[in-house]
Amino acid sequence: MTGKNIIKYIENWAPKEIAWVKDNVGLQVGSPNKKVKNILISLDLTNNVVDDAIKKNCNFIITHHPLLFRPLKKIDLQNDNNSILIERIIKNDITIYSAHTNLDYVKDGVSYQLAKRLQLSGLNFLVRLKSNQSKLIVYVPHEFSSKVSDAIFEAGGGIIGEYSNCSYKSSGVGTFIGSSKTHPKVGQNEVLQNVNEMKLEIIIDNWQLNNAISSMIKAHPYEEPAYDVIQLGNDNSRFGIGAVGILEKPLNPQEFLNFVSEKLRIKNFRYNGGIKKSISKVAVCGGSGAEYINDAIKNNADAYITADIKYHTFQDYKNDILLIDAGHYETEVVSLDEIKRRLTLYKKANNSSIKIFKYKGSTNPVKFFNN
Ligand SMILES: [Zn+2]
Repeated sequence: MTGKNIIKYIENWAPKEIAWVKDNVGLQVGSPNKKVKNILISLDLTNNVVDDAIKKNCNFIITHHPLLFRPLKKIDLQNDNNSILIERIIKNDITIYSAHTNLDYVKDGVSYQLAKRLQLSGLNFLVRLKSNQSKLIVYVPHEFSSKVSDAIFEAGGGIIGEYSNCSYKSSGVGTFIGSSKTHPKVGQNEVLQNVNEMKLEIIIDNWQLNNAISSMIKAHPYEEPAYDVIQLGNDNSRFGIGAVGILEKPLNPQEFLNFVSEKLRIKNFRYNGGIKKSISKVAVCGGSGAEYINDAIKNNADAYITADIKYHTFQDYKNDILLIDAGHYETEVVSLDEIKRRLTLYKKANNSSIKIFKYKGSTNPVKFFNN
């Protein structure tokens, strides 16, 4: 099993194309073509994580936060810690791969795992991603319509939420005259043809469009299939930011704070007073999600858990919603178990004997001082 196989599997779940446009997800250092010995999963890459990888014979490390985020201007092995870390990674023949905002924006990704840790049910995204889909419209003779739609479904088209193989078919008549150089499947060249055709309409994520068009052309009987591509502004129900769901039973604010502390295993976190007497609907966003507070309110959430909330933000919303800053690391680290669970299924399905480890130490740069 190579790094490429692992990357393909992860990106099937969390496509890198959905990542924030300024993010740097994917391969960070190393070669994806090398055979993977064992895998280590960590939120961040530090020297301690590399130590652990070497100890456990892992030559493939998956991190959430990209190692390379700002452009490297030089590799200064004298003064720059990041450069020294990169040298160490290369010398030890380790490949580093990061799934960052693509893992944030996918179902069962970072925010969904945070929501599941709080046992929220009926989960939905807080904000759906939008304008990343197209509609592929193809005109095809009746008897070939299923073959062509199947080819597009196979290439990832026709998925709407939990529904697959979604298409719309309508009947009509296609007309054409092929020049003397053509070999029409129906009729003969230089003669006007009227053919009973289906208009096939299928939605598809933009990054799968080119592949779907190639598959469609392969399955289509015509020399020159007629098709249209229309960019959509729709919400994409499969990808979004944050998550919102319902607690198993309503809790009063004090009970809820205790519950959050217990479920996230954190002793210290910041919150505002809030005005709700009972907490039932809860919104979450792993990592820095303060910009989505209004979306939590719009979703009628009684509480919103995220991280990196500023003082004045706590102040501004104190009469609107119970805001909890549970820590950047603390709200994201919960997602590592899901990566491990999925990779374990994948290696079992492929009869691979590689081992998958989650980094046991903490990479949280934030410490709490207790006097
Ligand atoms: Zn983060």
